[in-house]
Amino acid sequence: MRLHHQIFLAMLLAGLAGWATEPDSTLAGVHWLSVYDMIGTIFINGLKMVVVPLIASAIVSGLIHAGEGRDLGRLGLKTISYYLLTGLVAVLVGLVLVNLIAPGVIEGEPAGNRLGLSADTDEVLASVKEQGAGDFSQILIKLLPPNIVQAAAEGQLLGLIVFSLLFGWFLRQVEGRPGETLRELVDGIYYTMMRLTLLIVALAPIGVFGLIAATVTETGLDAIRPLALFFVTVVLALAAHAFVVLPVAIRLLGHRSPGRHFQAMSPALMTAFSTASSAATLPLTLECVEQRAGVSNRTSSFVLPLGATVNMDGTALYECVAALFLAQAYGIDVSLTTQFTVVLIALLTSIGVAGIPAASLVAITVILGVIGLPAEAVGLILVVDRLLDMCRTAVNVWGDSAGAVLIARSEGEEAVLARPVADTESRA
Ligand code: ASP
Repeated sequence: MRLHHQIFLAMLLAGLAGWATEPDSTLAGVHWLSVYDMIGTIFINGLKMVVVPLIASAIVSGLIHAGEGRDLGRLGLKTISYYLLTGLVAVLVGLVLVNLIAPGVIEGEPAGNRLGLSADTDEVLASVKEQGAGDFSQILIKLLPPNIVQAAAEGQLLGLIVFSLLFGWFLRQVEGRPGETLRELVDGIYYTMMRLTLLIVALAPIGVFGLIAATVTETGLDAIRPLALFFVTVVLALAAHAFVVLPVAIRLLGHRSPGRHFQAMSPALMTAFSTASSAATLPLTLECVEQRAGVSNRTSSFVLPLGATVNMDGTALYECVAALFLAQAYGIDVSLTTQFTVVLIALLTSIGVAGIPAASLVAITVILGVIGLPAEAVGLILVVDRLLDMCRTAVNVWGDSAGAVLIARSEGEEAVLARPVADTESRA
């Protein structure tokens, strides 16, 4: 059975298992939930274990083989332009739908009173604070971590990426044996990490089972009911971006089949959905984009690590919809100027949001402050946040991978998605 079928089956089984399990069900004194949790945590640990050496060596190795410095500048410019443009389109899709559907207004009245604050406010604020400030100056500061080891240990990928880019850039210039040896060493580390990643990828079906079963057992689907309209608005907007905007771009600009790309990316997308973390999914994203979609290492090792941290279409869209939903629910009249401020902040903060579960909540509190709502308003959406986090993370990863394909095509790469995925899978 192919990998993506295995993962899909695991998701179905996990849904059933989670549905059949109560949070306190036990078997011979052992909590089912803790078993699911353990399986999921082991898988996420595996992904996190490889992420730092994998992306650091991928970026440095990619830079070493990247050709002329001019080429690199062009690649960088294309990547950043793609990220900003698709991020903006995503936020605008969210803006249109939240205005059309108006999920915060029920029977002509702000829904705030009916919904009631659903979570313990202090707890929410504390957890939001822990994620660090989401404003733009913080993003700039994080670009240069004072201690690279600490940044790596804390999973601050942005700083690690900047360091790796600098390291690779200067390693290109070291001449003679020291330069040669170090360049070969980095390549060696990268090939080894790719192999190790394959092992973790093979474990994905089991890990995904644990993650989804634990989520369904804990959250259940009942949580959606009071916020159904908000939930539907977000899912519709994400679907419009993922199934219309990006596929049209792949078809028209990349001249490739979006369906084939979707098939190539499905293991990574399902992992993103289950882990709700684009950073943890990065090893799979790299693997799928290179081995299954046929994008060169030169392009993917530059575009994807950067994308996993700065390009978050789903997150930007979600921030915009959530902030405007809360404004509607609290009966605040949001002017056009404010709406555009929301669009801008959603776009900028999505760059700084870490690729970890629930990270958008920080950015949403920043936006709420700007609209004049108390930060605790975010408590209203907490019950559905996990499920929506899973959806928006999959869209984040899908957006990164579409970027890799489009940029590779614009660089003249013919092998991208040129063959059915089944062929490339057996090769990998
Ligand atoms: N969980 C998302 C990610 O990892 C970030 C967020 O929107 O909370 O991409």
